[in-house]
Amino acid sequence: MCGEGPTWDATCPFCPGNEEAALEVMRVPAGNPWQVRIVGNRYPALTQTTSLAREYSGLVRRISGVGYHEVIVESQIHNTCAALERPADLTRVFQAFIDRAWAIQQDRRIEYILFFKNHGRQAGASLRHPHAQIMALPIVPSEVRVRAVSARTHFDEVGACAYCEMLQEELADGRRIILESEHFVAFSPYAASTPFHVWIVPKQHSASLLHATPAALEDLGRSLHFILRSLYVGLNNPDFNYVLRSAPVRDLGAPYLHWYITIVPRISLAAGFELGSGIYINPSLPEECADYLRTVDSSSLHGAHAYGAD
Ligand SMILES: [Zn+2]
Ligand SMILES: [Zn+2]
Repeated sequence: MCGEGPTWDATCPFCPGNEEAALEVMRVPAGNPWQVRIVGNRYPALTQTTSLAREYSGLVRRISGVGYHEVIVESQIHNTCAALERPADLTRVFQAFIDRAWAIQQDRRIEYILFFKNHGRQAGASLRHPHAQIMALPIVPSEVRVRAVSARTHFDEVGACAYCEMLQEELADGRRIILESEHFVAFSPYAASTPFHVWIVPKQHSASLLHATPAALEDLGRSLHFILRSLYVGLNNPDFNYVLRSAPVRDLGAPYLHWYITIVPRISLAAGFELGSGIYINPSLPEECADYLRTVDSSSLHGAHAYGAD
């Protein structure tokens, strides 16, 4: 469980005192003690030192691995996790991502910036120290493009953002809503692919997180914190991924794209059927999952904070 074991680990590259200066990209605040650091991945999948090149030969296509692969170290505390931190700690991580994303997209080779978190082994995390990842790609991935084309088609046919419409329908229905705050709605989607799948969607139309106001970011920290604590307590600290779905860098103002965060607890396995069909068998009802997460009492959960009281 988070909170157990040592708060500092001599062998952990993310713990204070073990920082590798050559990998550091930025820290917040500048100097010591830092609260958030962004560092280059030790084993990057993408690099800035190669030039952007595409090759086509028959059916074979290649593109050079140009891009950025960085890690956001979320805390100085080795054994904490997002559910045990404070809302302001989560807000700080998202603000750091935004600042870094604006800088990365100055590189005109970059088409899409992915931001995600792997929590736990089943979700792909290899290091315990709380961290998230940034991957900036020289392409718009097909997963993103397929959704964008669908949203664009809806906008062209109906004249409205599909996500704005979805929010109105979810709020009117109410059964899948987990949380509604000033700026966000969190709900389990109608066609949730897995149990306890949650979306956090801004109420105001916006294609990109990069345009979020400070007030909205504070609210995002609180809303995400509520969801992660509910999952932590209600499902006993499940492994999970969250992924930011936000517009490609050249489409930040698109009227048909609407950013959101998708949170997927790793409590069911994608196996042969899912691989073969792209269809996910969800043994739970999103209405029941939402009802459960709404009512989880996480008030007794206390975390170890590095930076004083709330
Ligand atoms: Zn550590
Ligand atoms: Zn919208």
